[in-house]
Amino acid sequence: MAAGGLSFRHVFCVRARCVPCRAFSTAPRSASQGSGARRRVVARVAATACIGASAALAWLALRDPAEPREEDARYAAAIARLPDLERAQATRVVLVKRFLSDADLAELDARLAALLREPLGTFSRDANGVPQLCGAPWETTYLHTNGAFARACPDLRHRLLALAERVDAAEGWGLLGGDSVGSAEKLAPRAGACGGAQLRTVELHRVLPGGALADRRHFDGGSLVTVDVLLSRPAGADFAGGEFCTPELDGTMAVHAGFERGDALVFVSHKRHCVAPVRAGVRRVLVAELWDGPERTCAHRCMDPRRECAYTVAAAQAERFVRADLPET
Ligand SMILES: [Zn+2]
Repeated sequence: MAAGGLSFRHVFCVRARCVPCRAFSTAPRSASQGSGARRRVVARVAATACIGASAALAWLALRDPAEPREEDARYAAAIARLPDLERAQATRVVLVKRFLSDADLAELDARLAALLREPLGTFSRDANGVPQLCGAPWETTYLHTNGAFARACPDLRHRLLALAERVDAAEGWGLLGGDSVGSAEKLAPRAGACGGAQLRTVELHRVLPGGALADRRHFDGGSLVTVDVLLSRPAGADFAGGEFCTPELDGTMAVHAGFERGDALVFVSHKRHCVAPVRAGVRRVLVAELWDGPERTCAHRCMDPRRECAYTVAAAQAERFVRADLPET
C-alpha cells in the first residue's frame, strides 16, 4: 500500500526491519489470481496484525512516559541515600531519657486504647519470627493504618519526626538533613507525594513471654532512622527480660540498659539490633521508622515508596492466614 510514495510501513510500523510490512509492500499489487493473489492476501493479514501490535506497543510506551521514569529515578535516589550497612554498625544508639513524661504516657495509653478499637493492620510472630495466625507472643499493630495514628496523636507524630531529625543532626548521620527534609517545622503532614523523609510505619509491639527479636543480623531495611519508645516498665515491674541489644563491630553484644518507660532509643535503621526474650509480663514499645518516601497509611510496613499502596486491613488479615505457620491437621 503506497500513499504519495510512502508505504504504510513508513507511516505506521515502528520497526525498521519489519518482515510482514516489507512483504506487503513488495507483494505484487496488480495480481488478481493465482499465487500472486494468495501472497498478497497473506501479506495483508500479516501486515494488519503487525500494525495492531505496533499501535499497542506505541500506546503502552506513550500513555504516560514521564511518571514511571520520575518514579524510578526517585527510587534510585532513595536507594542511594540509604545508610551503608557497614558504616551503620559504627553509629551509636542514642538513649533519650524521659522523651514522654508520665502525663504524656497516660494520655498516649488512653488514645491507644481508643485507637486499637479501629480496624488496623496486624501481624503475629512466634519466638523465631515465624508468622502465626493467633496466640503468638509477639503482636505488631500498624497504628498508621488509614492515617489513624496521625489523627489520634498529631502532637506525638510531630515530636517523633522532630526527635529523629534532632538526633540525626547531632550525631552527624546526615540521613534526614539537607534541603530534602528541611526543619522540624516543615515536617508537618503533607498532601500527596513527599519531598523528604516521612513516617514509613508507626507500630505498637506487644511482646509476651517467649517473644523475642532473636536474629542478630536484623536491621530495619529500607528505612533511614528508627525511634523506639518504651511504653511499659522493665526490670520486672511490667515485664522482665526483653533487653534491646546491638551486635557491635568488636564482636560484643551491647545491652542498652537504662531504657525505661517513656524513654526513646534513636538509631540508624540499618544498624543491626535484636531484643532478648521476654521472660514475664508484656513489653510494649512504639516503633517509628522514617524513610525516603511518602508518609504511609497502608495496613503494613510498606515495601515500595514509588507509588500509591492499596494494602488494606482485609489484605493484612488475608496475609495472616496465608503466611501463618498453621499446625498440621
Ligand atoms: Zn504499603
